[in-house]
Amino acid sequence: MLNLNGLSTNKAGPRHVKVLILGAGPAGLSAALYSARAELKPVVLTGTQIGGQVAITNTIENYPGFPEGVGGSELGDLFQKQAERFGARIEIDSAQSVDFSSRPFKITTDSGIYTSDSVIIATGANPNHLNIPRENELVGRGVSYCGTCDGWFFKGKKVAVVGGGDSALEEGLFLTRFATNVTIIHRRGSLRAGALLQKRAVENPKVQFLWNTAVTGIVGNEKVEALQLKNNESGEKNTLEINGLFIFIGHTPNTQMFAEQVEMKNGYIKVDERFHTSIPGVYAAGEVADPRFKQVITSAGMGAAAAIEATHFLEQESN
Ligand code: NAP
Repeated sequence: MLNLNGLSTNKAGPRHVKVLILGAGPAGLSAALYSARAELKPVVLTGTQIGGQVAITNTIENYPGFPEGVGGSELGDLFQKQAERFGARIEIDSAQSVDFSSRPFKITTDSGIYTSDSVIIATGANPNHLNIPRENELVGRGVSYCGTCDGWFFKGKKVAVVGGGDSALEEGLFLTRFATNVTIIHRRGSLRAGALLQKRAVENPKVQFLWNTAVTGIVGNEKVEALQLKNNESGEKNTLEINGLFIFIGHTPNTQMFAEQVEMKNGYIKVDERFHTSIPGVYAAGEVADPRFKQVITSAGMGAAAAIEATHFLEQESN
């Protein structure tokens, strides 16, 4: 049986590794960098979205070291290259189920089975849906959860953005590059977003705000044509003609697979101050375990710390 970069090539049986990292966003790839530099030859399973949310973010202006900002996918590529340089192996594969009841841990993936001495969960979070009529049917036909991915399709068109947080404003501002009008629809009368983004949005002539407003439905068979709106204070109903609807109303952590395996807290994986889950040898980092900060830098930091802890754990075991 050959052993290539710590990864058994025997397809017949489970592949055994020392550190298996689930997720290839900032947390997963930082964990990969640190555990690779500890010569643990980590394997990263990318899941369906390589690079995580950062890869679909247009520009990141608050990651230190990039005074002019950096493209999200560019930063993701740099994270990956740096981890690979030290021997991390990135696999385009998704975990389907995990068994943390005994060691080595067992992870069943699209391609087979891994066993691992330690696991770092960095599966991130997915965008929330409004759950209104026709939302699901019109995804990719005017409904989007990613301005960076889909903004180009709305050149010279009118779009609406739902949400009042940093994502809604940041993506709304990005969409002004393409769209003639960007209407930000927020359910309350004040924004949650940071002051700088608020200032930029308010000052942008292409941006309008609809306050205290809920989107109750989408009009359109083949594509988005209009939104049905309701004023949350007066109850007044309205229609807004629009070509695109971008929804940024927060995220839900990708924890479904782990709920029966590790302790949870409010839908997030519960970790202590050293990113240990309730199972020794299993760590969690990034948005899957972070209800508060959700920044690229905090996720990267959590990933690095989780990898340091995994390294100590494996060292203690081998002594
Ligand atoms: P968020 O801060 O949770 O904001 C979600 C927004 O959606 C809120 O304004 C919320 O309204 C609204 N909302 C939630 N559910 C809704 C519903 N069912 N219908 C209508 N509106 C709804 O999420 P986020 O903007 O994605 O940001 C997540 C985290 O990432 C935050 O910590 C943020 O600071 C960070 N982030 C930072 C940057 C940056 O620093 N440049 C960029 C993006 C994200 P309410 O205000 O009424 O609750």
